[in-house]
Amino acid sequence: MVLGDLGSSLQDALEKVAGRSRIDEEAVEEVVRDIQRALLQADVDVSLVNDLSDSIRERALNEEPPAGTSAREHVLRIVYEEMVAVVGDATEFELEEQTILLAGLQGSGKTTTSAKMARWFSRKGLRPAIVQTDTFRPGAYEQSKEMADRAEVPFYGDPDSEDPVGIAREGMAEFEDRDVVIVDTAGRHALEDELVAEIEDIESVVDPDMSLLVLDASIGQSAGEQADAFDEAVGVDGVVITKLDGTAKGGGALTAVDQTDSSIAFIGTGEEVSDVERFDPDGFISRLLGMGDIRALVDRVEEAMEESDVDEEELDPEKLLSGDFTLRDVYKQMEAMGSMGRLDQVMDMIPGMGGMGDLKDEMPDDFAEVTEQRLDTYRAVMDSMTDEELDNPSRVGASEVRRVARGSGTSEEDVRELLEYYNTMERTMSQLGGGRDMERMMKKMSE
Ligand code: GDP
Repeated sequence: MVLGDLGSSLQDALEKVAGRSRIDEEAVEEVVRDIQRALLQADVDVSLVNDLSDSIRERALNEEPPAGTSAREHVLRIVYEEMVAVVGDATEFELEEQTILLAGLQGSGKTTTSAKMARWFSRKGLRPAIVQTDTFRPGAYEQSKEMADRAEVPFYGDPDSEDPVGIAREGMAEFEDRDVVIVDTAGRHALEDELVAEIEDIESVVDPDMSLLVLDASIGQSAGEQADAFDEAVGVDGVVITKLDGTAKGGGALTAVDQTDSSIAFIGTGEEVSDVERFDPDGFISRLLGMGDIRALVDRVEEAMEESDVDEEELDPEKLLSGDFTLRDVYKQMEAMGSMGRLDQVMDMIPGMGGMGDLKDEMPDDFAEVTEQRLDTYRAVMDSMTDEELDNPSRVGASEVRRVARGSGTSEEDVRELLEYYNTMERTMSQLGGGRDMERMMKKMSE
């Protein structure tokens, strides 16, 4: 998930308090200023930024850091908690009969979301259906029908009608016996009075239990205004943020949730009907702040170890996250990652690496795919290295590289590639003040 540079700017800001045992007013002020800049750049609304900075400032100065926590951990924890408080808990859904209205601007992802949500409900054992009332956008009917087919969910629409309210009425009658009816509505490019009037009419016919505002994650400062208008028209009970797989900044979506005093129900992470997740505030903010999603990573490592023949004793998932590597550890990581999938996807879950485009850019293009063949090459390289070299790969110089390549029957390039991977990994972790630091904190937070 990419949310602009917010994560890395915050990390930079927090570096300023790293290593200090006490936090003075000046240091907090500096961090708060940096955080403000990062949030504004991510398109978070100004008044929300001010509120957030007030609470961060106040808590950082007045709360005692818990014993054993550094100033940096203390501030990061406060930032984390305050941001989680803004997004709040996920919108609650009862798994029972209900009607859900989707509203939002054209292109925000309503039609896609209706199919994704329908699929989600049917996987929970309910019988959903979709009503498509968008008579404005050419192609909406066909698209919706096709997506409903893919989600294997019944669908109602009328390509010849120009009466959305009529379609809504007919659709509700058609699906009287279904458990969950999701009503998709038309959007326009901007909020026009006509659109607002139409959605109000549909709302009164449908009488939804829940109205969700669908927002494209890249929406900027206009999010607040939009959210207000929809809130006034139909009452927003929850927000769906789409396209979080893209390069959106995401700040506008935070603003909308704050402004409507609502919560996030789902997030969309791709164009397929399966690309939807229930919103998880902790995971979302952890990723936003570049802390990675430790739980997801550890789960994945454990799952991979069950599937592969990597000995659990040998590869401790916590070690994977620590800054304390030898080349042998890195090799074991790669072995496990090879069975976890593409390295670049795994890296997105490692603390601080979410926004580490640099690291990925530094790697050879096909490096993300840890192939068996490559692992064999590295194994040969490592067999030709001394224990001293394996423990301290950063000390391996050009003449050693030549020797190892000759001895192992590999190329110097292979040797350098392995060393380069080790070095970047190590550098990244120490820039972050050590993975273990981060990991300890995440553990504390999840307690
Ligand atoms: P609507 O006008 O609000 O109904 O929006 P659509 O559902 O037609 O979506 C507009 C475009 O965004 C389509 O090309 C969708 O495939 C795309 N889209 C919707 N949700 C997502 C998402 O979560 N990720 C990505 N990458 N694309 C999405």
